[in-house]
Amino acid sequence: MSHLEGGLSGKTHAADALMGLDPVDQRPLLARYDLQKAATTLTRESVAARRAGGLWRWAELLPVRESRFVAHLGEGDTALQPARGLAAWLGLPRLLVKRESLNPTGSFKARGMAVAVSRAVELGSRHLVAPSAGNAGGALAAYAAAAGVRATVIMPADAPAQNQVEVLATGADLLLLDGLITDCGRLAGVIRDELGAFDLSTLKEPYRVEGKKTMGFELAEQLGWRLPDAVVYPTGGGSGIVGMCKAFDELEALGLIDAERPRMFSVQPDGCAPIVRAFRQGERFAKAWEGASTAAAGLRVPSAVGDFLVLDCIRKSGGSAVAVPEADIVATRSALGRLGLGYASLETAAAAAGLKALVESGLVRASETVVLFDTGAGFKSDPPDFPAPNTVPNDAGFWKEKVIPRLR
Ligand SMILES: *Cc1c(COP(=O)(O)O)cnc(C)c1O
Repeated sequence: MSHLEGGLSGKTHAADALMGLDPVDQRPLLARYDLQKAATTLTRESVAARRAGGLWRWAELLPVRESRFVAHLGEGDTALQPARGLAAWLGLPRLLVKRESLNPTGSFKARGMAVAVSRAVELGSRHLVAPSAGNAGGALAAYAAAAGVRATVIMPADAPAQNQVEVLATGADLLLLDGLITDCGRLAGVIRDELGAFDLSTLKEPYRVEGKKTMGFELAEQLGWRLPDAVVYPTGGGSGIVGMCKAFDELEALGLIDAERPRMFSVQPDGCAPIVRAFRQGERFAKAWEGASTAAAGLRVPSAVGDFLVLDCIRKSGGSAVAVPEADIVATRSALGRLGLGYASLETAAAAAGLKALVESGLVRASETVVLFDTGAGFKSDPPDFPAPNTVPNDAGFWKEKVIPRLR
């Protein structure tokens, strides 16, 4: 890694300072690498020979400098599988499913947290904080425990029960907030400022996206160094999409793939679809979605600091963004189970429902190689069925008076 670069400002910052957002414009920072140097050791052959490392096989294009800081629970190298029943249902014979639900902690969030936690610890942080709709919190708690540092997770009080239990069981602090993920993000900022914790909110620091981009590296490798025609991804904060676009550019710069790119398709539920609305209206930034509501917790993200990166990526690829009716999501989850995909998360079901709509509208054609992302496992995304005893009110005064002293 050579430096950090403002995703919007283009301004350069030192590589080895612990930084959150770009100080120039409060937008995301992106890690940049000496790609010429990386190309000398990262080749098709060398990366294939690195058997045991999961996503850490891509070390030249990851920010962690010393392997002793790597917190590794087995993340990465997930299967890319045909899914016969689903392929027939969708009328897409060349459909492949990327099984991110097989990651430790049951979702692709493990990739981002593995790299971000490792890097934050390498740069000296001992207390990490993040807002989470569920899966990011579980992943943060697991990787912080593996790295031996403290974690504080803030979830909306209606976050899936499984995620709450997971965070507590891995020894992190859990705060439940009577509000949305964006409110949780504000409380994370207060904990950062008051307690000196490092804020790992999605795209508010540069390294979670570095972990997630390895999904893009793996796609290329698994498809024999060619990319599919289309990629379909359920989008919340957008770091999965942004990471893959970044990965493809880096692989091309290394000479490992050509300039062809898959069309990237974002799927959001119609109860929270800020990226879809901005895409349709031709906006570069997405306005916050009022009254966000969907059972797919990972997609309940009313505004995202990396919105323009997501929209730029989709547009440049020739893809699109589609909203699916909320009622289709649960119905599609049952369909996926019956079609042999296992017990899928509601986010995965939303993506599958979106892909069905894309096929029906002709935006994705039967002859194409399409990769559907199964981002998380079903057992992680049920609504909570127990009362949440430590819910805190959505009130900055209360946070300062009651929450901060309790954590201190
Ligand atoms: C977080 C999450 C998403 C959304 O991913 P982004 O990269 O934030 O857009 C999708 N599916 C699952 C299961 C998630 O946990």
